[in-house]
Amino acid sequence: MALSGTPPYAYPYHHGSSRGMTPKIQYRGAKSQATISFDDLPQNTFTAEHSIPQTEDVGPAYPTVVQQARNNMRKFDKCVLLTRVGGFYELYFEHAEKYGPLLNIKVAQKKTAAGSVPMAGFPFYQLDRFLKILVQDLNEFVAISEEFANDASGTVKSGGLLFDRRVTRTITPGTLIDEKFMDPYENNFLLALCPPGPGDLPHYSEIEKVPAELTKGSIPRPLMSTSIGLAWLDLSTGVFSTQKSTIGSLASAAARIGPREIVLVDDLEDAVKQSILGILEQHRHLVTYHSVPTQALSMSSWTPMLETEVPAELQSTFTNEEVAAGSLLLAYVKDRLQGLGIKLQPPIRRQEKETMSIDKNSMRALEILATSKGGMAGGKGSLLHTVRRTVTKSGTRLLRDWIASPSMSLQVINSRLDVVTLFLEDRALREDIIGLLRRSYDSQRLVQKFSLGRGDADDLISLLRTIEATNGIASLLKAHYNFSEVGSTMSSLDREHRQSLQHLSCRLWLEEPKALAARIADAIDEDGLLESHRIEETENANIVSMAQGVLQKEGSSDDQAAMSRLSRSKVKQKTSTDHEVEEEDAWVLRRSASPMLEGLHESLDGVRQNKASLMSRLREDLDAPSLTLRYTPGLGHYCHVKGPKDITSSLKKYGAARDVKTTKSTRAFHQSEWTSLGSKIDQAKLRIKVEEQRVFQLLREQVVVNLVKLRQNAVVLDELDIGCSFATLAEEQGLVRPVLNSSLDLKIVGGRHPTVKLGLEEQGRAFVSNDCSIGENERIWLITGPNMAGKSTFLRQNALICVLAQVGSFVPAEHAEIGLVDQIFTRVGSADDLFRDQSTFMVEMMETAAILNQATAQSFVIMDEIGRGTTPEDGIAVGFACLHHLYYKNRCRTLFATHFHALADMTKGLEHLACYCTDVAERPGGSFSFEHRLRKGVNRSSHALKVARLAGMKLWEPTLPNG
Ligand code: ADP
Ligand code: MG
Repeated sequence: MALSGTPPYAYPYHHGSSRGMTPKIQYRGAKSQATISFDDLPQNTFTAEHSIPQTEDVGPAYPTVVQQARNNMRKFDKCVLLTRVGGFYELYFEHAEKYGPLLNIKVAQKKTAAGSVPMAGFPFYQLDRFLKILVQDLNEFVAISEEFANDASGTVKSGGLLFDRRVTRTITPGTLIDEKFMDPYENNFLLALCPPGPGDLPHYSEIEKVPAELTKGSIPRPLMSTSIGLAWLDLSTGVFSTQKSTIGSLASAAARIGPREIVLVDDLEDAVKQSILGILEQHRHLVTYHSVPTQALSMSSWTPMLETEVPAELQSTFTNEEVAAGSLLLAYVKDRLQGLGIKLQPPIRRQEKETMSIDKNSMRALEILATSKGGMAGGKGSLLHTVRRTVTKSGTRLLRDWIASPSMSLQVINSRLDVVTLFLEDRALREDIIGLLRRSYDSQRLVQKFSLGRGDADDLISLLRTIEATNGIASLLKAHYNFSEVGSTMSSLDREHRQSLQHLSCRLWLEEPKALAARIADAIDEDGLLESHRIEETENANIVSMAQGVLQKEGSSDDQAAMSRLSRSKVKQKTSTDHEVEEEDAWVLRRSASPMLEGLHESLDGVRQNKASLMSRLREDLDAPSLTLRYTPGLGHYCHVKGPKDITSSLKKYGAARDVKTTKSTRAFHQSEWTSLGSKIDQAKLRIKVEEQRVFQLLREQVVVNLVKLRQNAVVLDELDIGCSFATLAEEQGLVRPVLNSSLDLKIVGGRHPTVKLGLEEQGRAFVSNDCSIGENERIWLITGPNMAGKSTFLRQNALICVLAQVGSFVPAEHAEIGLVDQIFTRVGSADDLFRDQSTFMVEMMETAAILNQATAQSFVIMDEIGRGTTPEDGIAVGFACLHHLYYKNRCRTLFATHFHALADMTKGLEHLACYCTDVAERPGGSFSFEHRLRKGVNRSSHALKVARLAGMKLWEPTLPNG
């Protein structure tokens, strides 16, 4: 067997080498032994006492492993420490006591000279499972201490220790790399914030003193416009971005990025710190502090961590804030990775002008990424969930990114729409591409593993499949935009659409990845790979049974119960046939992968041949046809004979033969020829393993050489996935292509709410479509009408249509013409906003003020029942002030829903303000229904009493008008 020395879930740092590449001496082909005895353990495990505690403490000392753990716990005091000991990860002392129960693993007491030490552990291949609980569920930081084999001098220096233990990485929620529990459909962003230095701050006295309970979660006004640097990355893909922003829009930026962890400099100005923490805590972000050495505050310090350097002329475009944030981010990551090399993509500067900004309230009120019930991102009912038809994981991640930051470029939007148009028209092409996409793998994350020096044979095969899929897609596309073939009958519009597709496919790199794919296919033996996985599983099962053996020998019955709970699913019942299995190999690389490998395999074949002839000679000489030549780590090479037949006399001829283990029906003995031949076989295998590693390393290097190209291809595939996804959606739901322009108008005919519509249809109810036409002519629509008549739905649906259009999707309408929207603002009156704990009137007013301060003529504002949290008189005053400001100052497109019909009278003189309303249809006999259809005019009756009665409330009759 070759690369399967380490079981599949092994953490790749074991013994300082990469996953699957360590020749492990204890490995032997397939299992030839039912259980491994305690004595077979490669190194002292948790029951063994080290005899040489080298500490200066007086009095009895801990065994070395425990002392090493104690030291690491001190050094990494914010982390839960996991210490690798043989086949296990162990927790000691207070960590064992605290986390043992949380991880549902048994806490045992280890007796040492210095008293008993609590400890708990799990088999190493379950690391991912327990990391998930610690990091993802409990939000803990974890330090992983690995074993490193000491060389001869190290062994002497350490007083005879075979292993040294060092922390190789600390893992936090924002620094996951390829952990199996990572959500494949979401980015795992780590965000660093760098607020301005003290000199750039507004003077403290300017910061208004508003009572704290009123401003909970809001920011003093002078700080709002203070600039701040953002830098964020996803270690699993290497995507790295920076942006200059302001403290005022931090909440929205954080909502858009959705980081798992946020890093802040530890020496922050108090006022700034309070504001920032206020914003972040509100959204339950996990905040970590870190300090950056000042000499690291430059872009040149980034270079070692990037796949390519940022050219000097580009460097100068980054602002100081961005450089500071990026430096903090990279310093933090470097510290977490403890020297593990990483190659990030060069940073991309995101600029606020390039994308539509959706403020955090809109993000939530419009349920763009998650539903307001606090659902998971992408949860059912959100816009993302409703429109998503992507088939790849990385495509889904990109879709999330697009939906959270719609484009402001007509060119970008139109070329995305062109692709959707083509895929909608040509269903066969779309289905073929989807088929190929399904066969591709998440190469963004795969390639990142290789950049970290990880990446195993399976990853290479996944890469191979992805490259094959990419080639397939490239030829499909090429056939499609090959104009000469389609002929001159094509319309110029069609030609334009095809050009967009051509631009997309021109970004694909084909030649070099093709060569890489060929090398992978030539080198890796997929059958051998499968076989080696089977063997790994058996080995893992053995570790568990070994641990059970240890516990049976040394532990209490509680320990055993815990262990068997842990392993029930893992341990396979061994069948007797295991004894019969001939020693077999599962080499991951083909013999032909290198001339050297070819030669080594030939010599292995040779010694194998010798083994076969030795065996038949022995069978004959000893007259023992059941004789086999075997190996176990405990017994070494030995001959095995079955059956009651006494061969003692014939054995005598072989004077050197020594009995090792004899039962009633079997006999095992050493035989010198087999012993020396056996070790030749071992050596031959070891040489093959070493050569396989060398070849494998070359393959990895080839992947790294192609890093940039593979990543670019992955992005193209992601975009195609989204294009197909939008086309599928458009076909399913009868969406239309929106027309985007740079006017200040918004014309939607027959618009529908994408998610409410689906919800109603599920209940068998029909959705009433509505038109919306705001802009130069009627800038503000003031909408009145009864409760439950669809005002809020109408407001939101128009905002969602703008978002979808600028993302590059078709939209739920009969026709849509949209002048680019630079920012969407949503303010929902506090009565509708109760799920927030701080729904005070003050917050509502501050957020409203923020909108009035920021909205431009290109913006789109929806205000839903503003001013509800106070008396009607005050509410009307607030509402009027807003309308006045929006009308005269912001001059932006606005939909304004209110119960205060007095506002309609107060705004009569405003030429570009129009009144619309929804209605209740009353039928003779007192029954009524909501029309949900918007018409011009004002509806002065709230019909609240009707609704109340509908809800089953008994109203006091004499107060009702007309009874
Ligand atoms: P309002 O804000 O006027 O109180 P909502 O927008 O909250 O009303 O709508 C109340 C309910 O009416 C929605 O949950 C939905 O079930 C239904 N509704 C809203 N708009 C429509 C529509 N255009 N067609 C059909 N049903 C609708
Ligand atoms: Mg409403």
